[in-house]
Amino acid sequence: MSEAPADKAAKQAEEAVEEKDIVLYEVAGEDGDVAIVTMNRPKYNNAQNGAMTYALDAAFQQAAFDDRIKVIVLRGAGKHFSAGHDIGTPGRDIDQSQERVSLWYDHANKPGGEFLYVREQEAYLGMCRRWRDLPKPTIAEVQGACIAGGLMLAWVCDLIVAADNAFFADPVVRMGIPGVEYFAHPFEMAPRIAKEFLFFGDRMPVERAYQVGMVNRVVPKDDLQRETLALAERLAKMPRLGLTLTKQAVNHIEDLQGKRTGMDAVFAWHHFAHSHNDLVSDNPLAGFDAKSMAKSQREQGGSKGGGDESA
Ligand code: ZN
Repeated sequence: MSEAPADKAAKQAEEAVEEKDIVLYEVAGEDGDVAIVTMNRPKYNNAQNGAMTYALDAAFQQAAFDDRIKVIVLRGAGKHFSAGHDIGTPGRDIDQSQERVSLWYDHANKPGGEFLYVREQEAYLGMCRRWRDLPKPTIAEVQGACIAGGLMLAWVCDLIVAADNAFFADPVVRMGIPGVEYFAHPFEMAPRIAKEFLFFGDRMPVERAYQVGMVNRVVPKDDLQRETLALAERLAKMPRLGLTLTKQAVNHIEDLQGKRTGMDAVFAWHHFAHSHNDLVSDNPLAGFDAKSMAKSQREQGGSKGGGDESA
């Protein structure tokens, strides 16, 4: 399907206007000490484009710097938490420069493998590590799909509360890529289960995610927001420094167990795969977009597919 460049540009401009409030920020809780950060692209199942990434970062920064905020909840508007990185909506903005938060230089005008390597260092690996180490407790509130890049957003949070309709999947192995950029899989579940999760790319239902220790609480869908806020409010009563130091302690132990250095190695393999795809198919995602990825999952069986799975 082709589209005249002028039409495409007009459509993208229209989408950009529509998507002004791509991330919402509100203060909640009886004592006003909980920040709720909401991904707000329900029309695209909250597929994460560059604009959303930087809006999320700004929201996390606001919550981190506001002394009144003790706990942060990350939520997705609509039916699904996150369909993953944006690989096909009209608001996909991968080719655009962004005002970066690390010292990585601009990716948008770079050739070959450098383009994606630089972008993902900043926008995926860098951002996820930055959010994971935010020195206040974070809670992901997950309903419906939490796919590929969506896993990264849930996994960087300290706690995950999930609705009984939630499911999790990382289907990017079918692109020839060893999982999403923030390779926490063997820390989120036992290695053998991580292999199964990655090899097949099937949906992991929330009950199984709870069994393997990826999810802290499973609650009825209609109670999700209330239960998550109640948990956040309880947490907000704890001493700020105690929470910060405890978070640092657990994160540090994970890093001593190899989480950070392991992820660095896998990130390199991830980019070898992107570049290999580019060499053999002229596309770093092996020609997959949101639709064809969902179709491939359906055809492969075992999974009902779903969402805009992405790498
Ligand atoms: Zn990637």
